Amino acid sequence: MNSAWINLAYLVASALFIFGLKGLTHPRTAVRGNQYGAAAMLIAIVATLLNSGIIGWLWILVGLVVGGGIGLLLALKIQMTEMPQLVAMFNGFGGVASVLVAGEAFGSASSPSMQMLIATAFSGLIGAVTFWGSLVAFGKLQGVIVSSNPVLLPGRHVLNAGLALATLALAVMLVLDPSNFALYWILAGVGSLLGVMLVIPIGGADMPVVVALLNSYSGLAAAATGFVISNNMLIIAGSLVGASGIILTSLMCKAMNRSLGNVIFAGVGAVVTDGPSADDVYAGKIKSTSAEEIAMLLEGVGRVVFVPGYGMAVAQAQHAVRNLANLMEKAGTEVEYAVHPVAGRMPGHMNVLLAEADVPYEQLKDMDDINPTFEQVDVAIIIGANDVVNPVARTDPNSPIAGMPILDVDKAKTVIMIKRSLSPGFAGIPNPLFAADNTLMFFSDGRQAVQDIVAAVKDAA
Ligand code: NDP
Repeated sequence: MNSAWINLAYLVASALFIFGLKGLTHPRTAVRGNQYGAAAMLIAIVATLLNSGIIGWLWILVGLVVGGGIGLLLALKIQMTEMPQLVAMFNGFGGVASVLVAGEAFGSASSPSMQMLIATAFSGLIGAVTFWGSLVAFGKLQGVIVSSNPVLLPGRHVLNAGLALATLALAVMLVLDPSNFALYWILAGVGSLLGVMLVIPIGGADMPVVVALLNSYSGLAAAATGFVISNNMLIIAGSLVGASGIILTSLMCKAMNRSLGNVIFAGVGAVVTDGPSADDVYAGKIKSTSAEEIAMLLEGVGRVVFVPGYGMAVAQAQHAVRNLANLMEKAGTEVEYAVHPVAGRMPGHMNVLLAEADVPYEQLKDMDDINPTFEQVDVAIIIGANDVVNPVARTDPNSPIAGMPILDVDKAKTVIMIKRSLSPGFAGIPNPLFAADNTLMFFSDGRQAVQDIVAAVKDAA
């Protein structure tokens, strides 16, 4: 296939990638957006394979079968709650692929141009940072090998600055002396160390932001590799990933009211606060409730808001919640869902689950829309959410979640909190909402609890 056809195919794929991203901005069009993206990737791969420059098919086919097989298996097996880990690994693979492809192209180029040299150095560095940073992020999210708490090594800022300067020096040396191929791998090695050092001081609760940032890095590394091998598709797709990753990073920082610098350098989560212990907060103030009592409470109320969190995902309670909502609506109650931007373990986690249970989009309310109205809510039912409704974010400037905008559920007339115990959420801190005068705790698995309430409401009818 001549290069005109290949570039045309790349153009079509690029347009599809862009339409795909546009589709992903709304739950209603997200599935189509995903299909566009997958079709674009297929076109890009086929066009690249038809490129007359291919000299052997065997390893390409082996790579396609092994890579595709692993991708398929992961997509089928992975739980929704483990999605951030999966995304972290995908980013890491993208990064290491850039390191290898750029390294191979550079190693086999007889007289590399300045563009190729600079792009190669960039690819090797950013790709290595992405790969190792993503492995650490994976470990922190999965709770394996690395602690999910921030690991704050003494003098780490100086060490990181030294590593960053070393990578800069190595990159310049590589550009000035391209015959010294070993420099490339040393650069990638120092970049790897930098990747570990940059992510290890960041607490597990900030990992979603880190994963989004590493996603952006993986795109930048891919775009740089596109310049190394002069591939327009890679440049465009890499730039799209780079830009969307950084936009997502900034949106998530905004959702937590933090700057990116604070997320990366502050070591939030390691600070031992002088805050009260769980015993101080809860002792003698917790009121338990039952499904029957909740059913009575819900009788004839005007407005109910469901507040889903990570526990709803763990319990897979979304269908039961929808059933309860249906019952309430039939009884004339206005039902809404308050969705916090970082509820769960990935951006949009709650939207995906509620969409799966066919909750009408109009009933999903963003934090900014619903917060001013909580005082008019008769009953707020929280299913497995904790940090995102913790009023400490507003009141304790030393708390790890200080300043994070939260759902002002505590202002509702009655709060029902469904969770299994008084255990803390992701940020690991007590939640005074459990002990508030207007809160009733229903200790149970999320799905079981909601199913029991449904049964009790039906019995009472
Ligand atoms: P939290 O992690 O704060 O709390 C979840 C609660 O769910 C726990 O307290 C737990 O209590 C309860 N729970 C767990 N399993 C069940 C179950 N089977 N049934 C009922 N309850 C259950 O969740 P939030 O959604 O409120 O907050 C999200 C947190 O995660 C934030 O700190 C955010 O920064 C962080 N984060 C967000 C990401 C994102 O992109 N959305 C990604 C990574 C982290 P118990 O054990 O007592 O049942």
